[in-house]
Amino acid sequence: MDSFPVQQETPEKKFLKERFREYYLKNLEPPPDITKREFGFGFEKKIDYRHKSFRSFQEFSEFVSREVPFFISYSCARYEFPSLRPMDRKGYLGSDLAFDLDRTYLEEKHEHSPVLCNYCLNRIRQDAVNLIEEFLVSDFGFSREEIQINYSGSKGFHIHLQSKPVQELSQEARKQILDYISAAGLDVEKILRREKTEEAGYILRGPTKHSEGWAKKLFDAAFKLVSSENLEDFAKDGIGKVKALKIMDNREYVLKKMEEGNWDSLKGLEGVWNKLLKKTVQLREVEVDRQVTFDVARLIRLPNSIHGDTGLIAKKIPLSEISDFDPTREAVAFDGNKMMAIVTDKEFRLEMLGQTTEIKPGKNKVPLPAGILLLCKKKALLYPE
Ligand SMILES: [Zn+2]
Repeated sequence: MDSFPVQQETPEKKFLKERFREYYLKNLEPPPDITKREFGFGFEKKIDYRHKSFRSFQEFSEFVSREVPFFISYSCARYEFPSLRPMDRKGYLGSDLAFDLDRTYLEEKHEHSPVLCNYCLNRIRQDAVNLIEEFLVSDFGFSREEIQINYSGSKGFHIHLQSKPVQELSQEARKQILDYISAAGLDVEKILRREKTEEAGYILRGPTKHSEGWAKKLFDAAFKLVSSENLEDFAKDGIGKVKALKIMDNREYVLKKMEEGNWDSLKGLEGVWNKLLKKTVQLREVEVDRQVTFDVARLIRLPNSIHGDTGLIAKKIPLSEISDFDPTREAVAFDGNKMMAIVTDKEFRLEMLGQTTEIKPGKNKVPLPAGILLLCKKKALLYPE
């Protein structure tokens, strides 16, 4: 394959390229079916060039060592002729199912760090676990073995499913999956409905302990709250003391009736239930980048490649380790014992590999991973030695 046009080579870029090259000589990993994937590469932005393909892993690996892109992406789709354009000449063969969880939680109160925010990352991690456990495994019946998760190298996580049946999912099916996990079109008001019964006249019917999907999630949340012996739990869900005490005094009876789908065992609680169910939906719905899942022509970061905005690895994570995954320790690509000199006009406090680095305006000697992060973020320059 031809080389790309020569990039404007600043000393910082040259330095980063050399470090990235050292990493790739040992750590490049091909996606499955590499010859059927379209690749995209970024030098200035995430994708400057796409519609590239390779005849073998060796060809790919030689290319990466020579050009050292700052971003490497590949298609979730497989094609007969991945490099042909326009898209409809490629010969679409099917596509992995991918989810991109990549957002900030600025609306939740915390000290947000624009460089690497642990709070936001933790929240996204919870979303990723929720998506896997509550939706992909529980509701859609995927096995944990076929779910691959990787850190994005920056703010979030990517989830990939690559099995044969997934390949064949139509766009409409992908859209339905997205709608389901984001609770689009789920009308809480319709989940509880007035129904006429022989013995008790109109009663409020709702999910039972045998319900499935969203109805079961809502049942479980309400059941858990009613089971609580703590007034504060009710207060957190916006339920006043009088109503909470009424529920608590009749707990066993209310729970028993709920299991049967009768949400009317105590009168006057319809508003309480509706409020609780709405809140549960907000808490459980998962916000993903819809385009990544829906648009099968999209390219996604190659797992275990380096993210050029951070110098961190888009690290594959075993499912069992997601809860403990700390990118500032486990996604670091470079030797924390090596030092480098940078110059900056700002203050930073970075935690990487368990060590804290305080950076002051001016010249700083910092561990290699911290220096590379700041160079990638364009928050510092190399200090010429
Ligand atoms: Zn944050």
